[in-house]
Parts: sequence; structure tokens; C-alpha cells
Amino acid sequence: MLKSLKTATVLLLCLLSDVTFGQTGGPKYVMVIHGGAGTLSRKNMSPEKEAAYRAALKLALQTGYTAIKSGKSSLDAVEATIHTLEDNPLFNAGKGAVFTHEGRNEMDAAVMDGKTMKAGAVAGVTVIRNPISAARAVMEKSEHVMMAGPGAEAFAKQAGLAIVDPSYFYTKERWDGLQKALREDSAKAVLDHGSKKSMLLGTQNRDNKFGTVGAVALDNAGNLAAGTSTGGMTNKKYGRIGDSPVIGAGTYANNATAGISCTGWGEFYIRNVVAYDISAMMEYKNMTVADAAQAAIAKVGNMGGDGGLIALDAKGHAAMPFNTEGMYRGTVTEDGKIEVFIFKKE
Ligand code: ASP
Repeated sequence: MLKSLKTATVLLLCLLSDVTFGQTGGPKYVMVIHGGAGTLSRKNMSPEKEAAYRAALKLALQTGYTAIKSGKSSLDAVEATIHTLEDNPLFNAGKGAVFTHEGRNEMDAAVMDGKTMKAGAVAGVTVIRNPISAARAVMEKSEHVMMAGPGAEAFAKQAGLAIVDPSYFYTKERWDGLQKALREDSAKAVLDHGSKKSMLLGTQNRDNKFGTVGAVALDNAGNLAAGTSTGGMTNKKYGRIGDSPVIGAGTYANNATAGISCTGWGEFYIRNVVAYDISAMMEYKNMTVADAAQAAIAKVGNMGGDGGLIALDAKGHAAMPFNTEGMYRGTVTEDGKIEVFIFKKE
């Protein structure tokens, strides 16, 4: 009974997330991005806000595409693309990051190179203007994979990255989001993308904005790279770190399989090792990127978690499944055609 219920859920999720591309000799995708998954519905979004999100996603994809077309590496494309999203206050990454319980902005980011399988990540950083660049510096300029807090900040400074006053990250909308969360339930961290299920568990904040950001790129040399950057969850406490900077959970890339960036309820993504799970399903079970991505999201859903992810394989097949009401997302093909989506059905 339980098993058939699970199978039905998987099938339903597959039907709901008809967001896979390029599996049957269609166009070759060279970049796929996300700007967070959550309770995004048309009726809750003004036309102006929707237009602003669509423009930001297009700019991000255009930036990545220009980098790839000019012969830059997938790593360069991912970093440049994520910069535009981190610098945009609409997204929960860089400027516009959500606030912790104590009223700080603590950001996480990771990047992985599918060719060398090198990776870098930072967690809980508060003064690095573009955390994705710090993640890349950890990967390229140190022998480590992950650095956290003041140590990561000292390293970024030494690497010559832009350091800002913490007030740079402030936005009124995120501050108001924290005040609301504190009023509603000061004891719980609030997901930036509360679903009906998470509302039942008391972790809701439906009015809050979404917007962890991520990008996966495929360059002219056939190399994949993936990156993710986030402010995490509103009202988070105790130095909580989500899945985004955890290699294999929120971010992963391997030329032999795919590049992946996740967004959603981080704890579920860590427990399911979601990004690596997709790569493993492709490697060991010979699954397509679309099937593996959908299976991974179904597992998250079956455990009670919600969110989405983007994945791109080395042949240019893309997948963007999610089990929330919407996900900011977009693709660009090798001929420069850009498409952006927000809602489930567009
Ligand atoms: N996955 C992120 C985290 O849990 C949040 C998000 O994607 O919105 O920190």
C-alpha cells in the first residue's frame, strides 16, 4: 500500500514537473539557471515584479552565454552569471540575502568543476560581496574544499576579493521578512520557500521571497561547471548551514555525468545527497539526466521536503524539476535562444 502510494507520488511529480529538455536530439543547452523554488503563484505576484524577475533571469543567461560564446570556460560562465544574481536584491544571495535570527546576513556558496572534479565552498560569510567568487578562490587558491566564517573571510580578503560592510546586504523586504518570522514563530527557522507541507510543520513564511541562485554551464570544450549561492533560511540560528555549499548535496559537477545545482529545504537535500545522487544514478544505472533528476526530487518529496534543482549533462540535455508551486529558472541553447520560466505551467 505504502509502496504503491510512493509510486503514485513519483508518477504525479513526473507529470507535474514537465521541465526536461533536449533528450531526443533537440537543441543543445549550454546553460541552465535557477533563482529559487517556492510558493510562487501568479495571483501573488504583481506584473511589475514578474517582469523584474524575468529580466534578471534573462540578463543572467545572456551574461553566461556571452562568456561561453567568447570561448571562456564553464567556470567563468557560472561565476559571471551568479554575480548578476548575487548583485540583484531580488534574489536570496549576495545583496538581498535573508536575515538570521540575530539580524545578520550569513551566506553560503559553492562551485565545482566537472573536468577536474575540484570544488570550493564558503559557509556563513558576512562581508564577501560575491560569495561565489570566494568559493572559486577556495577551489583554485587553496588545497581545501570548504572554509567557514571569519577564516573564509580572511582568505577571501587575501585573495583580493571585494569586501563590503555587512550593511551592503540589507534590503527592507528581507528585514521585514525576518520581523514577520520573529512574530510568527521565534523558535523556528523559516524556509524561504514554505510549502503547504512545511506550513503544517510550522516552518511557513508564504509571503517571504525566494531565491537561492544557481547555474550550470557547458563550454565549447565540453566541460561542465556548477555553482550555487544563497543566504539560506530566514531566522536561521546557531550558524545553521544548508545544502548549497555542501558538495554532493546542493552542488555537484562531473563531466562524465552532469552538473547540478539545487534549491529547496536544505536539510532534506543534505540527507538525500541529492546532487551526487543524480550523478550516481546516471553513472551506475545509466539513467538520463531527466530521469535521474526527477527521481531525486521524488525522493526529497517522499521524505517531506520541497524544492527543485537544475541539471545539465555533457551533451547539453537539461532538466529543471521541482515539487513546489514554481521555480525561477531559465535556459539558453547553443544558438543563443533564451527561455525563462517562473510558474509550473507557462
Ligand atoms: N537550499 C537553501 C538552504 O537550505 C535554501 C533555498 O534553496 O532557498 O539553505
